[in-house]
Amino acid sequence: MKLALIIYHDLLWPPEQVKVDFSRGNLLVMFAPISRCYGHGLADVECGDDRPLTRPSFNQFPLPDNNMDHIKLLKLWQSACPGEYFLFDYHFMWQWYQDLMSVRLEEVLTADIDSYAQLGLDGLVNCGSERVFYPTGWPYYLMARHLWGERQGPEQKARYFQLAFGEQSEVAQRFTDQFAQVTGSPIHAHPWWEAADIQRANQVVEWLAQHQEPLEAGAQAAKSPTQQRAWRVLLHYHRLAIDLWTAVQAKLRGEKQQALEQLEQTQKFLQEAEKDTAPAIDTLVLLGWVGAIRDAFQKQ
Ligand SMILES: [Zn+2]
Repeated sequence: MKLALIIYHDLLWPPEQVKVDFSRGNLLVMFAPISRCYGHGLADVECGDDRPLTRPSFNQFPLPDNNMDHIKLLKLWQSACPGEYFLFDYHFMWQWYQDLMSVRLEEVLTADIDSYAQLGLDGLVNCGSERVFYPTGWPYYLMARHLWGERQGPEQKARYFQLAFGEQSEVAQRFTDQFAQVTGSPIHAHPWWEAADIQRANQVVEWLAQHQEPLEAGAQAAKSPTQQRAWRVLLHYHRLAIDLWTAVQAKLRGEKQQALEQLEQTQKFLQEAEKDTAPAIDTLVLLGWVGAIRDAFQKQ
């Protein structure tokens, strides 16, 4: 039997007085950077700095909010306790629960997986929701293939979208590809609704309006029930994005009450459309986004 020793929270600091016994060959080390940033790859030197860390007092450990500090802690462990290490990560948990609408999940996943060998990590256990197919299942599919060493290029991505969306798949792909760029991602340490300014909100709302017709036409052209379902989920995402960005736009204009009313309508829409989205994502997660934005607005 193998046991996993978890590097997590306070245990992100390696022991000084106790020696871990790896001599029996049954102990693996699981690195779980729970407070990492998903606006950057795990090994991205832009996320943090190279200043050495100071060991905190007992039970006074502030969780790192950047990736470089996590990597420094991993390296401290690896030099204090050489052994087999693997990663326990949360792409389909934190991002999924908090900020799916701006992160470039596919780029972060690819960069992360590419860095595992260099970081001395022998694999990934993914902590996440079971339904992670909103607005498409592409990031999850990409992660699975990439972990097997099957790099996914533009050809594979186009094939995925063709199978999922049918005839008008390019419209669906263009929309999801441009989304992160238009909304200003990647964003370090802030959810998009905090990072956006009024110019950004105006641009995004206009861009979303331009996509209404092409997306609806794409959905009309869908042939099979599978393709029709994929389009329903994507159109739902488009509507949700319009709602949330319109609320943020109103708030940035100083129309707080209007923004809160918009969010109330959005909540109703999510609850009423649950049948369409339930196979792709838990409605509780979607409501969580609305709630987080509402809480932020109410505090301001
Ligand atoms: Zn970052």
